[in-house]
Amino acid sequence: MVFSKLANSYFDEFPFRQRKKLATSSDYFFLSHAHSDHTTGIKSVLSSQDAMIVCSKETAAVLKVLHRIPKEKCLLIDTNQSLDFDDFVIHAVDANHCLGSLMFVIESSENRKEVYTGDFRLGKPILDELELIQGADHLWVDYTYGDMPRYNFPSRKDLISEILSLMLADGNYPHKEIWIAAYQIGKEKLLKTISDALKVKIFAPEKKVQIYKEIGGGWDIFTDNPDSGICVESRRRVENLTGLDQRTEARLINSLRISPTGWAVELVSKRLDVHYFPYSDHCSFNEVNQFIELANAQEITKI
Ligand SMILES: [Zn+2]
Repeated sequence: MVFSKLANSYFDEFPFRQRKKLATSSDYFFLSHAHSDHTTGIKSVLSSQDAMIVCSKETAAVLKVLHRIPKEKCLLIDTNQSLDFDDFVIHAVDANHCLGSLMFVIESSENRKEVYTGDFRLGKPILDELELIQGADHLWVDYTYGDMPRYNFPSRKDLISEILSLMLADGNYPHKEIWIAAYQIGKEKLLKTISDALKVKIFAPEKKVQIYKEIGGGWDIFTDNPDSGICVESRRRVENLTGLDQRTEARLINSLRISPTGWAVELVSKRLDVHYFPYSDHCSFNEVNQFIELANAQEITKI
């Protein structure tokens, strides 16, 4: 999405022209996280021997499973770590979005500073690094709900409690199967809390099971066992019951269906058979505008 003049590198953009030729002489492609709208054209890096993707180890695991990008093409950067390049230093801040998501702070040898937020949710990991983020010459900021005052939602912690209460209410789990809508990555705080609280692994599509196995650590919370009782699938399938075989469709109709999404604010009145919660991995309207105030940058580009 963004070409940083300072770093002379691409951020969440993998341009490819004439099929395989990279459109840049840059060897580094900075990837904040692996949601599909940030990885378009990512395979083009394979056509250049020197091209490297700079990302977290969790993002590298997603790239390996979903895009068959070998680990050797990824230069790993950890949260709160800095990497030195020829004429700039890049710092990684936990973006508090999906697992492994990063915000990048780029500082040149001439003391120019740029901040690229990627997708993020304002919270402790970012507030802890505020000094590093503040006073940039240019801030590129995720503005998903930034001009929509209606999109103010509670903290993820509060919504996790609400969702768990609904799941465990009389007649629901374990009597009813629970289906939760989520992309292949994201909403991990919610899904891990559910898995830990109920001591079950969550039934998920094959690729999702593989991704979190690859990430490892405490994140191996998904299973291919369909009898789990707690299941996760795409929003399209859970909300609209599209793309399902007959048996699975019947299962979903008789289940408790939950969709955690920031867009719940407008969807909640549209579908009464789905329980919407405004659980978002993005900043609310207030949070993003508060972040912009705190960041106090000279120039801002909303993305
Ligand atoms: Zn995202």
